[in-house]
Amino acid sequence: MHWHSRLVQPQTLAAPGFESLATPTYRGSTVVFKKQADVVDDWEQIENGYSYGLYGTPTALELSGRIAQLEGALYSFVVPGGQAAIALVYFTMCKAGSHALVPYSAYGPNKEMAQGLLRNLGIDIEPYDPLIGAGIANLIRENTTLIWVESPGSVTMEIQDIPAICKAAHERDVMVALDNTYAAGILFDAFGHGVDISMQALTKYVGGHSDLLLGTVSVNNESLKAKVGVTYKQLGLAVSPDDCSLALRGLQTLGIRLKHLEASTLEIAEWLTEQKEVKQVFHPAFPSCPGHDLWKRDFIGSSSVFSFLFTDNFTAQQVEQFIDTLEMFKIGMSWGGVTSLALVYPNVERPGKDYAGRLVRLNIGLEHPAELIQDLEHAFQAISKQKENQDEIRSSLVSL
Ligand SMILES: *Cc1c(COP(=O)(O)O)cnc(C)c1O
Repeated sequence: MHWHSRLVQPQTLAAPGFESLATPTYRGSTVVFKKQADVVDDWEQIENGYSYGLYGTPTALELSGRIAQLEGALYSFVVPGGQAAIALVYFTMCKAGSHALVPYSAYGPNKEMAQGLLRNLGIDIEPYDPLIGAGIANLIRENTTLIWVESPGSVTMEIQDIPAICKAAHERDVMVALDNTYAAGILFDAFGHGVDISMQALTKYVGGHSDLLLGTVSVNNESLKAKVGVTYKQLGLAVSPDDCSLALRGLQTLGIRLKHLEASTLEIAEWLTEQKEVKQVFHPAFPSCPGHDLWKRDFIGSSSVFSFLFTDNFTAQQVEQFIDTLEMFKIGMSWGGVTSLALVYPNVERPGKDYAGRLVRLNIGLEHPAELIQDLEHAFQAISKQKENQDEIRSSLVSL
């Protein structure tokens, strides 16, 4: 062979039989077939053989299998992120003329897709109160095809009565999809509680180190698998085998990370309930969290993300200053990694509630909890001191 040809069509030289503990990172778009008659373009590669890297290399399919096993699902579609997983659910379950229900407390970009892209395609999406429970029956219409649930809700942490919602939905042949990211697909048993489709952002706890973006859509019956599969194939939701390899590594420590994060988070949330600056702590394990009793009934634990509300006498600027004063807590989006994060949510829209820039969400990481408490304490002191100074100036101006 000319060396040009040999470069492209080499013999394999490394010896076979390398029995590593790690799943190999298989890269590849083209898959070669033995003969023309074998050529297929089928996303169901586990059943029908490998066809094309777009539908997952063995690295992605290994991850798919392990997530499905953990969630008690028949199959998990691995997609490029949690938001892509949300899109896959919508485009599978809704078409022009469909009606879908989404809780007010849903992940922001889910609602943005509902009111943007989907509305423009003629899909009617209606927000509902996450605490509605069995009352959801009154909102189901002839053309309702999908009910989203997310429990706890994003930022405001409402726990939903998912079994009651599923019961009402199934009486009218409506599918229920759950965003199970908070629970890492583990702390809440989606299929055991009646959910039809369970998605999560692996970006959060499975990845666990803020260095990858992936999502999954899991189903537990053949007909839904086939239905989601059609959309999955057409949308071309390819994932990177390198990201899947990192997620497979993340899975190995998921158990101890969740356990440790739960304990540290409870310690810090407990401390926050005792601070005079804090009006309410939104942590599912505390009675101050809306739907706490449902959490006790349905969940096997809590994770690392929760929110708290400053008392009414603080201004949005003071809360912002609190965030800026923190040192160990970083300011950033997403969560579930090893680093503690804090973020103020100035525009949380919940009918009948006015949080006016006083709602802060924390993600607790793997730093020492006592030092995280110190960091919070220092930031509380800094804004309280500044507040006293401002109040003094104000009262001296009044006496002038
Ligand atoms: C982060 C998140 C998503 C989106 O995940 P990405 O991988 O960032 O797209 C979806 N749902 C919830 C509840 C999330 O927190």
